[in-house]
Amino acid sequence: MPHAYDPTNIFARILRGEIPNKTVVETAHTLAFHDIAPQAPVHVLVIPKGAYVTFDHFAAEASAEELVDFHRVCAQICADLGLSIGSGGPGYRAITNAGGDGGQEVPHYHLHLLGGRPLGRMVERA
Ligand code: AMP
Repeated sequence: MPHAYDPTNIFARILRGEIPNKTVVETAHTLAFHDIAPQAPVHVLVIPKGAYVTFDHFAAEASAEELVDFHRVCAQICADLGLSIGSGGPGYRAITNAGGDGGQEVPHYHLHLLGGRPLGRMVERA
């Protein structure tokens, strides 16, 4: 089934400048900003500027330039915020939710970067 993108979603509105955000990094293809309801001391959302609904949509259809830019921004944030274990940081968690079972609330692909405290189990047991 094709990924139908809803251009009224809140992250599309942020990208159009209709809603403010607390920007962390912005590049030609990617925007990163602080989550409005942080679940950890660090809770940054990284989004592509293109109209992608989920991780798999982005991974399948984004250009190589978009894919590289997105992931380099993620790496820059991990380094800048002192999270990367490669530079002695404490680590972090990168999460993306997709669709109903994934619990996705905003239908524009986004990666949650969480850190600043031990984050516990990844998934609750049912
Ligand atoms: P998800 O459930 O993976 O779709 O996550 C959506 C995330 O977007 C949640 O963590 C919300 O707190 C966050 N969020 C919703 N609206 C805004 C906003 N205007 N600015 C920043 N984060 C937002």
